[in-house]
Amino acid sequence: MSEWLSSNLKELLRAEEDQMIAWRRHLHQYPELSFQEEKTPAMIAEILNGFELDEVRTQVGGRGVRGLLCGGAPGPTVALRADFDALPIQDQKEVSYKSQVPGVMHACGHDAHTASLLGLARVLARHRHLLSGNIVFIFQHAEEENPGGAIQMVEDGVLEGVDAIFGAHLWSPAPVGKILTAPGPMMANVDDFYIEIKGRGGHAALPEQTVDSIVVGSHIVATLQTIASRNVSPLESVVVTVGSFRAGDSTNVIADTCKMSGTVRTFLPEIRDLAEHRLKEIVIGTATMMGATAAVHYDHGYPAVINTLHEASILRDAAVAAAGEEQVEWMKPTMGGEDFSYYLQRVPGAFVFIGAGNPEKNAIYPHHHPLFDIDESAMKISAEVLGLSALNYLMQGTGGEEA
Ligand code: MN
Repeated sequence: MSEWLSSNLKELLRAEEDQMIAWRRHLHQYPELSFQEEKTPAMIAEILNGFELDEVRTQVGGRGVRGLLCGGAPGPTVALRADFDALPIQDQKEVSYKSQVPGVMHACGHDAHTASLLGLARVLARHRHLLSGNIVFIFQHAEEENPGGAIQMVEDGVLEGVDAIFGAHLWSPAPVGKILTAPGPMMANVDDFYIEIKGRGGHAALPEQTVDSIVVGSHIVATLQTIASRNVSPLESVVVTVGSFRAGDSTNVIADTCKMSGTVRTFLPEIRDLAEHRLKEIVIGTATMMGATAAVHYDHGYPAVINTLHEASILRDAAVAAAGEEQVEWMKPTMGGEDFSYYLQRVPGAFVFIGAGNPEKNAIYPHHHPLFDIDESAMKISAEVLGLSALNYLMQGTGGEEA
């Protein structure tokens, strides 16, 4: 049944490759910014409707699209996710499929995520009678904004009935062919903070009449370093960076106010909470100790992408089957962020980076660069890895129904 589909998936996807490239190049020419996507979700819905899925919902969480494919026999439900928003960057490539929209560009590969998942959806829809279980195709808007589309789609029920989820990101820093995933934390919590210290200004020669906000701020910067060095185990990861510090503008005046801002990067939720808690304590405590007052504004960005072990293993096995053992790696986490994390907060699942770099195709620039491009053959690899993950998940689920 599904075993036949698994062993023939590579072949079936190869037949979709030209279509994937055509879809990707169309999307690439007509990119739309986060929360402004209109034509993109309309195109996705129209294509999905052509596959005669069991249900296609649009405007999920605002602008997302959800397709449901029911298999020929009952079983679990697995979701596959692609995102489809672009970035406010001027496309500087000279290629036939260059962006036609001034100042907007698919510079992160989301066009390819969508085209790849559409190609996979077509293959799976044609062979639905072989599936024991269901597949939900999630096409997500606004991944690049915070808060973005994932949380909105989750709150609008996109994961209803879903038992597990898999997602992929094409990754230009890795050569095409390479596949990277992680058996736990994969991408970081990204939080930002803004601090304002109020002292009492005055004459630089009469410090006893003032509360020097620069001295207070300096103590705070130094003490914040103890979060990493004294509060968090040396075996866990945390970064606390003060990235801006502004106060005063004269040699003979003690500055009344000092403002600083920075970022906190972590992986584990308990370390994230601890870092936030300690940061606030240090700022308020140090300011109070020195006779100043302070306010902290703390912005929570995307939570960390933390793969669940079982699903990460399924994904890794799928990657090995698709590309061979030597091409697949357990990676160290990166400090970048992704709102795929919101799905993982609700259901088990795993995320994967699909190598898409290739000097011969000029795919040598980092993500979010005005010359960014991918090796388009990564799309069928991505489709195969996600497809095999879903099929493997469904096959495991069918035996365990009575359990
Ligand atoms: Mn991205």
